[in-house]
Amino acid sequence: MNAVHLMTVHQAKGLEFGLVIVPHLVEGRFPSSRRSEGLTLPNDLLKEELPPAELHMAEERRLAYVALTRAREEVVCTLAGRYEGVKDWRPSRFLQPIRGDEGRELAARQLLTPPVGGLVEVARQVELPLNDAPPIAALSYTQVDTYLRCPQMYQYRFVFRLPTRPRPQMQFGRILHEALKDSLGSIERDRPLTWEMVNAAYVAAWARERFCAPEQAPSLQDLGRSYLRRAFDAGDLSKPLLLEQPFSLRVDGLRLSGRIDRVDRHADGMYEVIDYKTGSTRRATELQRDLQLGVYALAAREVFRFEPLTLSYYYLETSERVTVDKPSERLEEDRQTIVRVADGIRAELFPAKPDRMKCSGCDFKLLCPSAAV
Ligand code: SF4
Repeated sequence: MNAVHLMTVHQAKGLEFGLVIVPHLVEGRFPSSRRSEGLTLPNDLLKEELPPAELHMAEERRLAYVALTRAREEVVCTLAGRYEGVKDWRPSRFLQPIRGDEGRELAARQLLTPPVGGLVEVARQVELPLNDAPPIAALSYTQVDTYLRCPQMYQYRFVFRLPTRPRPQMQFGRILHEALKDSLGSIERDRPLTWEMVNAAYVAAWARERFCAPEQAPSLQDLGRSYLRRAFDAGDLSKPLLLEQPFSLRVDGLRLSGRIDRVDRHADGMYEVIDYKTGSTRRATELQRDLQLGVYALAAREVFRFEPLTLSYYYLETSERVTVDKPSERLEEDRQTIVRVADGIRAELFPAKPDRMKCSGCDFKLLCPSAAV
């Protein structure tokens, strides 16, 4: 049915239309000069600290991204030099990259007759400007990993702070981590862990999560329960030394933050850093150059002084524990990798690294001019 939908940008989130008209693209209206609650992200997801004035602009930029990427075919941006009153309005900074393309602007003018004193512009792809990128003082492992996968993806996610979609697999992993944390955390010396305690923690973790794919929830609930039951029956759910331990590590003047799922202390004095995985099992030889384990090893040695130390991934699907050796030369390579990433971010080098598989799962493929899809 042909129809015009009139809605706010917030209401348009997650929707798509053939043609989208974004009005009022003037400084003071979009972006607005007023600070509001608007579209917020949890602080935990915002790893880079922005000064307060930047926060509002980053929020407006996210809204502009949402508005300008709702269209399957065309976006029409409109603005006027005068609205009510006598104020002269200046074009929005979000139009800057669109207006830079003269060819598109001319095409737009042929298609549409702009109102007197107004402007009409059409864009198919939009790059949002970011002036004065904040300095980088701290990074998380997720940020380093994202930059290594694709610096352009890093820029969209952590510099422009554009929102990403929730994914069932990620939520499933988070629920299992929560259930393990709560059930292992409830073990007391005189109160050993029972299956009922694990199951209750698992049910509570599901109840807290707003799952993005309700149709998949029942089968994933059963699957996760079978993972936990197998780990419980194998005797792998014993009281740990540390659970969900945050760390902050200095690497070349940079703070690298993260969280270790679990640390065990064995009878022979050995410390074991354990990270739970919900994906397929990888062999120890494949994990020799795994950066995440390198980061854990650096944190365990330099922050917590855990010696002797082993590093393991615990694969919940198979209850398999894969232990990896990280000799000091490998750790040095990992440290250099982190330094290289930080240098790239500081120099604002965000080249795209397109790859068909990576791009097909990328949240920014509709926006990214280099997407290989
Ligand atoms: S679409 Fe591909 S090239 Fe573009 S940001 Fe995503 S992963 Fe990188």
